[in-house]
Amino acid sequence: MLFLGAILATGLVWQATRWTYTDALNNLIKVGGERLTLYSGTLHGALSRYAYLPYVLSQNADVKILLKSSFNLGLVNNYLESLNSEAGSEALYVMNSIGDTLAASNWRKPLSFVGKNYGFRPYFTDAKADLRGQFFAIGVTTGQPGYFMSHSVLEGERFLGAAVAKVNLTPLQEDWREGGETVLVSDANGVLFLSSREDWKYRTLTQLSENQRTLILAGRQYGDQSLELLPLETVEILAEGQRIVRFENVLYLMLSRPLEGLNWQLHHVVPLAPVREQWQAVAAIGTVLALLILALGLYARERRQKQISRRKAREAEAIQEMNLRLQEEVTERSRTENTLRETQAELVQAGKLAALGHMAAGIVHELNQPISAIRTQAASGRLLLDREDTGKVRETLAAVTRMTEHMASITAQLKTFAHKTPKLKGQVVLQDCLDGALAMTAPLFSEFGISLSKVIPDKPLTINGDRARVKQVLVNLIRNAVDAMRDCNQRDLRVEISVQNQEVEISMSDSGIGITEQDIEELFTPFFTTKEVGEGMGLGLSISYRIVTDLGGTIRAQNLPDGGAQFIVRLPLINQGGGAVK
Ligand code: ADP
Repeated sequence: MLFLGAILATGLVWQATRWTYTDALNNLIKVGGERLTLYSGTLHGALSRYAYLPYVLSQNADVKILLKSSFNLGLVNNYLESLNSEAGSEALYVMNSIGDTLAASNWRKPLSFVGKNYGFRPYFTDAKADLRGQFFAIGVTTGQPGYFMSHSVLEGERFLGAAVAKVNLTPLQEDWREGGETVLVSDANGVLFLSSREDWKYRTLTQLSENQRTLILAGRQYGDQSLELLPLETVEILAEGQRIVRFENVLYLMLSRPLEGLNWQLHHVVPLAPVREQWQAVAAIGTVLALLILALGLYARERRQKQISRRKAREAEAIQEMNLRLQEEVTERSRTENTLRETQAELVQAGKLAALGHMAAGIVHELNQPISAIRTQAASGRLLLDREDTGKVRETLAAVTRMTEHMASITAQLKTFAHKTPKLKGQVVLQDCLDGALAMTAPLFSEFGISLSKVIPDKPLTINGDRARVKQVLVNLIRNAVDAMRDCNQRDLRVEISVQNQEVEISMSDSGIGITEQDIEELFTPFFTTKEVGEGMGLGLSISYRIVTDLGGTIRAQNLPDGGAQFIVRLPLINQGGGAVK
């Protein structure tokens, strides 16, 4: 991202620099063009100011007479002198048909043109051939450069000579120099004959050929100037008349334009330094700005990264805090769990103690009755012995025996839990056990008005076990059913026996009060009872459970949809109807 930004910034700076360069250069070209227009105007103006002079002279009758007959010399000399000073030209003179100067405005001066022959000068030959001539040259006589303008003096068709005006263009150069500008004028050969830069004067823009050099020498145009090449190296050509040049390791913009009607070129040379300075300034500012933006970007990135790392640190802190809290919570929970476990253990202990209390109360209640009865019987036995009523004594002792038997049966029940049950041996017919159990509980049926219905297969069903234990299970179930129906209006007990696969199922359904959901879990736990003290010890079902599981069977309880409870005992079937079970 930052790398891309750097590339973009570099691109922008480069583009801005290019725009600045192009813009500044175009500006320089525009200004230079305006300068060229101005300078060509002043040059043309300067020349046209004197253009009339040769013509006026050529038309002068005294001049013609002088040329025809050599009269009027003094007159013409004076005329030229006064006209020259009036017009402000450098010199005015008249040449005859072979180029000898007959009269001149400077006839009084030591370097007078009078008597000199300038027939070799192109302005003379031009005037002779074509009425007018014009020529820039260094004066042969004076050594002063000037612009020569000539006009032929004719008598009818006859060429009498030429009238010439020499104009000094040095003041023009001075103006340009004072303006601080480099303005040059080159001739058709590329010789810089006017230049605001003195060291460039009479140098050439192109290497002169030998032929050109000979011709120039013949015309004695530039005196003894060596006309060396000016080492202006062209760096780039921008357009026609617009190029970038190098001189002494300095770059310049050089604008050139032909001067109308003169076969000269006007040049304006301006250093490129301002352009370079401008684009360098833009490049520097752009670079500084780009670096600033880059630095800002870096700063922003660092700030963001710091923020991110701060946020991460905060998050980490929060997570750590959360972890700590979790840890505390876990510790708290495990502490609570321990407390709960301890509480549960205490509860279990309390429950055990409660059960023990309940059992003790039950046992005490069960045993108290026969004990106090035995005590009473023993006391009445003593009285009967005193009375020697042996018959009654026997009866009393028989009652004591019955009561001890009852007590023994109670302790026998408890023994089931005290010892491991011996391995059961033998087989028994289930129907026989059921008959025994029903016979034993028959008084209860008549006492509470209970109707009994049975669905029992005829074929005897043989199971493992001994008669007493199987009977005890059935008696327990019947007694419980009777107890459950005791306070109910409808009192029906239904006993069903069926064979399923290799098992026999005994179902005991009553129309009693049923069992609560919560009690169903606890039913087979020793000493679990919902009955009052003295009415039950909570051992019946747990003993039954133990007997059934010892016989390899199962016992479970459920409530019936129409009320009442159902106990289902399943035992392995050995055979039915005396034969082996298939
Ligand atoms: P006990 O009869 O001495 O209470 P049990 O172990 O025989 O002991 O029975 C435990 C409890 O099971 C009873 O107190 C009673 O709440 C419940 N119970 C047993 N059989 C039935 C039944 N047929 N209908 C309703 N509740 C029953």
